[in-house]
Amino acid sequence: MEYQYELAIIGAGPAGIATAIESYAVGLRNIILLEKDDNHNATIRKFYKDNKRVDKDWKGQKVELDGTIYFVDGTKESTLDFFDQLLDHDSLELRTHTEVQKIVKNETGFEVFIAGGSIHAKYVVVTIGRMGKPNKPDYKIPPSIKNQIHYTLDGCGSGEKIMVVGGGDSAIEYAVELCTKNEVSICYRRGTFRRANPTNQADIERVVQNGSVRALLNTEITELESESGKVKVLFNDGTSELYDRIVYAIGGTTPSGFLSSSNIREEDGKPVHDENYQTNIKGLFVAGDITQESGGSIALGLNHGFAIANYIKSI
Ligand SMILES: Cc1cc2nc3c(=O)[nH]c(=O)nc-3n(C[C@H](O)[C@H](O)[C@H](O)COP(=O)(O)OP(=O)(O)OC[C@H]3O[C@@H](n4cnc5c(N)ncnc54)[C@H](O)[C@@H]3O)c2cc1C
Repeated sequence: MEYQYELAIIGAGPAGIATAIESYAVGLRNIILLEKDDNHNATIRKFYKDNKRVDKDWKGQKVELDGTIYFVDGTKESTLDFFDQLLDHDSLELRTHTEVQKIVKNETGFEVFIAGGSIHAKYVVVTIGRMGKPNKPDYKIPPSIKNQIHYTLDGCGSGEKIMVVGGGDSAIEYAVELCTKNEVSICYRRGTFRRANPTNQADIERVVQNGSVRALLNTEITELESESGKVKVLFNDGTSELYDRIVYAIGGTTPSGFLSSSNIREEDGKPVHDENYQTNIKGLFVAGDITQESGGSIALGLNHGFAIANYIKSI
């Protein structure tokens, strides 16, 4: 069967867009980006708070940019504008509202299955990230309080008692934002916030010291219950407290179902790939957060796209 596209990229986040731009730059043509959401960069749109500071060296990881895309520190809004401008590149085709279900290798390349049909491509790069399924706690969430449990700031208003769970950069940024209008606690199983970047460490120290956020360190939640319309949080020391809402910021999960339906081998929570990000299936690549157990970043995704483009060009 003839392929329609030289390259199909699944997911239009930073890694997907970079793969498209860098591939075009090295001479590949007929490139399509397939995105399940209604616009590119669903992770940034949904999980970043408004006006969030976007760090190029996220989580303190210094990344030298290899490719042609010049990415610098900014805000959520300037970062989305930046990707808008990259996508305005007239030779890139972005198809939104298009969720890819699986990828099957055939004689000439790949058949990429979407609702109601499929497209054919010579090479495929999977850049679907890990935030399609944010990590959830191990304990059960009673259905009666489901609407008070969040994984982003959507639905959080003002004047409420809110607990943020987690101690990484995202959890700290959520707590610092929420505490301007709410009574906020942050619950973290470790004893310090040292895994966060220096700015966020300074921010959380400031709000804890001035009493705007209460830090519950070395603390784990064992159970949630529903009590009088509130969320009753039970801790590992046997105590409990009532909250209006809980916001979990504990990372994302590997999309194992997607990988296995496309026969991409997974080991230790990550798809197996070589130094060119090629999976166990020749011509099928992975890039961005999906290649990391945790701790990906925009800059890392941009570099993956550059590496893959150059490798495909060299084949
Ligand atoms: C709260 C928060 C704050 C962060 N702050 C920073 C920061 O300041 N600086 C920084 O560098 N990094 C930051 N990060 C990390 C950064 O957002 C990620 O590393 C980056 O978005 C990963 O890019 P990606 O392209 O691999 O995946 P994603 O950005 O997750 O994009 C994946 C895309 O694929 C789409 N998709 C998923 N499944 C399918 C499918 N089956 N078919 C079609 N499309 C699909 C999704 O809708 C999404 O648009 C932060 C992350 C979070 C959660």
